[in-house]
Amino acid sequence: MDLAEKLKILSDAAKYDVSCSSSGSKRKNTTGGVGNAAASGICHSWTEDGRCVSLLKILFSNCCCYDCAYCVNRTSNDIPRATFTPQEVADLTINFYRRNYIEGLFLSSAIIKNCDYTMEMLLNTVKIIRKVHRFNGYIHLKAIPGADFKLIAEAGKYVDRMSANIELPSDGGLKLLAPQKKQTDILGSMERISERITVYKEDRKLTNKTVPFVPAGQSTQLIVGATPDHDLKILQLSENLYRNYQLKRVYYSAYVPVSNDPKLPMLKAPPLVRENRLYQADWLLRFYGFSAQELLDNNNPNFDLQLDPKSNWALRNLHLFPLEVNRVDYELLLRVPGIGVISAKRIVAARRFAALSYEDLKKIGVVLKRARYFITCRGKYYGEVPFKEHTIRQRIISPQPSVEQLTMFDGLGYKN
Ligand code: SF4
Repeated sequence: MDLAEKLKILSDAAKYDVSCSSSGSKRKNTTGGVGNAAASGICHSWTEDGRCVSLLKILFSNCCCYDCAYCVNRTSNDIPRATFTPQEVADLTINFYRRNYIEGLFLSSAIIKNCDYTMEMLLNTVKIIRKVHRFNGYIHLKAIPGADFKLIAEAGKYVDRMSANIELPSDGGLKLLAPQKKQTDILGSMERISERITVYKEDRKLTNKTVPFVPAGQSTQLIVGATPDHDLKILQLSENLYRNYQLKRVYYSAYVPVSNDPKLPMLKAPPLVRENRLYQADWLLRFYGFSAQELLDNNNPNFDLQLDPKSNWALRNLHLFPLEVNRVDYELLLRVPGIGVISAKRIVAARRFAALSYEDLKKIGVVLKRARYFITCRGKYYGEVPFKEHTIRQRIISPQPSVEQLTMFDGLGYKN
């Protein structure tokens, strides 16, 4: 099989892994323009310093000996298979980089033979790229849980980011759908990667000659909707991962029905709105001081698909509102729907000089179509509906009563 054919198979096989964000865009250069965007295996991700870089996103192999029910690459599926050599991946990366197609590599793999062998192949690949080609661009490498940690630790010296995919929210889910995987192996790898990162950060404070270890941190991917686990369980797991394993990101991937295994739910389409709600809630955990237990509880274990999680929380806690924007603490401002981190900071800075008006809030960037129901400004409430949960909820879901476009002849007695 030639290299182009392998690339086609193994870039396509990588598309369901979202633990590095993918753009999937395909755009040809135009006359006088600069650059192409190619769908074939090129995605975008963010480096430690926040730069957006385009990555070659591929699997090393899709010849998997595991049989995870939700995965297109499972051993029992009849699909075209391919495996690169470490040299081939290294050459592809360098050639694509030299042509300016990419700035880095995202490399994952199915399990070939066993975990150790697979991790060894990945390690050999990144070693060639770094040591032989002396490539200094971004590399995101998948850690293979269950592999000898010495291999993972060695690979961590050559890459910027690593991810061990948690895959499913519960151990029970893994046992049912991915029986060859163990949650203890996955969490164990994350924990040891996290410990190494901590050691590296401490050493770096003492000397800048420290060998880097996964300097852009670790991330993981969680599949949503393949098991009956509710959003509360998923969010509590993410909270735990952020707190205990210093994860940079948890990526949520709506389950895409790609196989007919009877153990899987019958879904007509991937639960994309649910995925979006989880991303919004994840943001609230990381930047807004919310806990999973505040956003959901055992009586309401799933997000409302019609409302964003912050508005949903505010409506369930209406006794805390409305808040006077000119007086309330920063931490509470962050809890107002429609007020983000930047606008909360601007409000706190600006009101030192003078009390803000409703117009000022608009200029500052507050999303008033949501915030207006939860604030007062100079003592005045601008919600325009009774301060009741169901009326506010209705207004947030459908902000304006429908307005009909008049034709030129309306009101003149003409009929179309
Ligand atoms: S290990 Fe499971 S999820 Fe990973 S490629 Fe193999 S079948 Fe798919």
